[in-house]
Amino acid sequence: MKRLILGLLIAAGASNVAAENPAITEVFTADPAPLVVGDTVYVYVGHDQAEPNQWYKMGEWLVYSSTDMVNWKSYDSPLKPTDFSWCQSDAWAGHTIEKDDKFYWYITCHHKNNAKAIGVAVSDSPTGPFKDARGSALVTNEMTTATGISWDDIDPAAFIDDDGQAWLFWGNQKAYFAKLKPNMIEFDGPIQVIPDEQVKAFTEAPWIHKRGDTYYLSYATGFPEKTAYSTAKSITGPWTYRGLLAEGAGNSNTIHQGIIDFKGQSYFFYHTGMMQHNSGIGGGDSYRRSMAIDYLYYNEDGTLKKVEQTTEGVAPVK
Ligand code: CA
Repeated sequence: MKRLILGLLIAAGASNVAAENPAITEVFTADPAPLVVGDTVYVYVGHDQAEPNQWYKMGEWLVYSSTDMVNWKSYDSPLKPTDFSWCQSDAWAGHTIEKDDKFYWYITCHHKNNAKAIGVAVSDSPTGPFKDARGSALVTNEMTTATGISWDDIDPAAFIDDDGQAWLFWGNQKAYFAKLKPNMIEFDGPIQVIPDEQVKAFTEAPWIHKRGDTYYLSYATGFPEKTAYSTAKSITGPWTYRGLLAEGAGNSNTIHQGIIDFKGQSYFFYHTGMMQHNSGIGGGDSYRRSMAIDYLYYNEDGTLKKVEQTTEGVAPVK
């Protein structure tokens, strides 16, 4: 029946219908960051454009929307590294959030200073057009020195707490965070480092969500990566390590999660290298990733059940 509906939707002109994992199959889509706006889910991804056996090649970010978690509508690329005058390349992981009817898209790119950096673009619409909100990077490599690497300022994850205070988390090898000013484009206070023992074996890709009075910090751990998480009763910690949330993603040495609640259900977005494609763009691998979605479940004590990664994906939401 799913396939029949799929065929009917395609015949009816609906675009980019997907009903299984990977959830988007027209192009490769990495590092999914979902955002719920009303009755619609938007997901912001990087576009893996590497040839088979080539390293990361990501020249743009893409956005998709869905009202049922199954049928994803594509839009023109709303943002590219070249939209930031100080970026030279690399549309690496980002995260978009809404505040006061504006949409702030925190992104990673390769700065002209030859290190990874974090910027922020803004739009009046979740699908853009977005423009650089600062004209400069929000985080440059020299602002964080807990590691000696040039790529520790990647994978921004924004979070707005119940009191309206916005925070940005990011990092590679070390997990950084800072308070954002109400304008969302400047920090209000120092950049802090989460102690290693609170985010054991942190690799990258932090994501914050909150349920009740508990904060959840999920992140990619080890390499090849799995997903782990910690919890806290304050956004500033201390964090308690809770163990693995997901095993490694199929055929990909990275995994990058995004977590939302939508219409009464919790979802775990991630990417895999599992796309098999017969349209001439080749199959998936670590540098040719595709967005997948599975359910996220809680235990009664508030801990998270380990995510079951499926090929079936999730059922359409009514
Ligand atoms: Ca740094």
